[in-house]
Amino acid sequence: MSQPKHLAIVGATGAVGQEMLNCLEQRQFPVASLKLLASARSKGKCIPFHGEQLVVEELTPESFEGVEIALFSAGGGISKDFAKYAVDAGALVIDNSSTFRMDEGVPLVIPEINAEAAKSHSGIIANPNCTTIVTLMGLNPLHRKWTAQKIVAASYQAVSGSGAAGIAELDAQVKAIHSGSKVQPKVYPHQIAFNVIADIGGVGENGYTSEEMKMQNEGRKILGHGELAASVTCVRVPVYKSHSIAAWVQFEETPDVEEARELIEKAEGVQLVDDRQLGRYPTPLDSTDGDDCLVGRIRRDLVFENGLSFWVVGDQVRKGAALNAVQIAELFV
Ligand code: NAP
Repeated sequence: MSQPKHLAIVGATGAVGQEMLNCLEQRQFPVASLKLLASARSKGKCIPFHGEQLVVEELTPESFEGVEIALFSAGGGISKDFAKYAVDAGALVIDNSSTFRMDEGVPLVIPEINAEAAKSHSGIIANPNCTTIVTLMGLNPLHRKWTAQKIVAASYQAVSGSGAAGIAELDAQVKAIHSGSKVQPKVYPHQIAFNVIADIGGVGENGYTSEEMKMQNEGRKILGHGELAASVTCVRVPVYKSHSIAAWVQFEETPDVEEARELIEKAEGVQLVDDRQLGRYPTPLDSTDGDDCLVGRIRRDLVFENGLSFWVVGDQVRKGAALNAVQIAELFV
């Protein structure tokens, strides 16, 4: 019998926070108590959980008294300022922001891939970047067999990746265009409705954005493979939910397409949707609100000698954030 836990969600009113509540309910997580924390704007708001109305409290340094596991999803600044109070109060912090991901001593965990790493935490465990999670869910079964050396990838990232504001921006622009009004981008640097924008995160000295570098940096840490190289272009697309990634991967050993399909079929947390005859391949709508990442279009790469190409989609609010965090918490009950 698992011991029920005293939990807190920081950012409970946000896109990821709300999905965390869904995951805790749907997976019957053993909850002794649940504290919902957000900004002063949301104080007093009621949110249903297991048939009860829970009242949102304003986040303060004292919020974590008696909390055993604190799920943080209120942005990097809040994690930086408040995670220490949770740790000092004795809670295990599972953080969705990028603040601690590359810190030594902070495990970066995808439970299906490196659950063992979670054990070595010193109070904080980081949830990886959403695009990295979805890509590695497709790659890991193949990497375990043939060892990935180089990844070239392009992402197609949904607007909910920018939180509630991204969804509102796409909605508003579609309405404006249909009513003949002028579109005024606020969240994104250009119009996102009926457009794609190859600009996610700040640009670094090498010309790649911070979002693009996460695949290599976080991928190395999660897979325990310091030589992994990744060259990525991240693109925002007018899709509400679920990120898609086209990946071209060079392996150390020669891969086999049929065996790759079998490996994906057997792997936990991924499903094979790949039937050329029936025209079956995954779309972002297929993975939306689901737990699994979907892999298709597996084929021999025509450029890399030991290469495979594949297409993977996954709900980035769920497996890319909320579900992955709840799965990490489950390792401790
Ligand atoms: P969001 O929808 O904008 O929600 C932000 C949450 O943070 C809200 O609950 C908000 O509370 C809270 N918050 C903001 N300022 C606060 C403050 N000063 N004190 C306390 N709470 C505050 O954002 P989101 O998409 O859920 O993202 C949350 C985090 O998860 C970010 O770190 C993001 O990078 C990460 N993440 C997001 C995704 C995704 O697909 N969306 C995927 C992976 C990781 P109020 O409602 O009171 O403002």
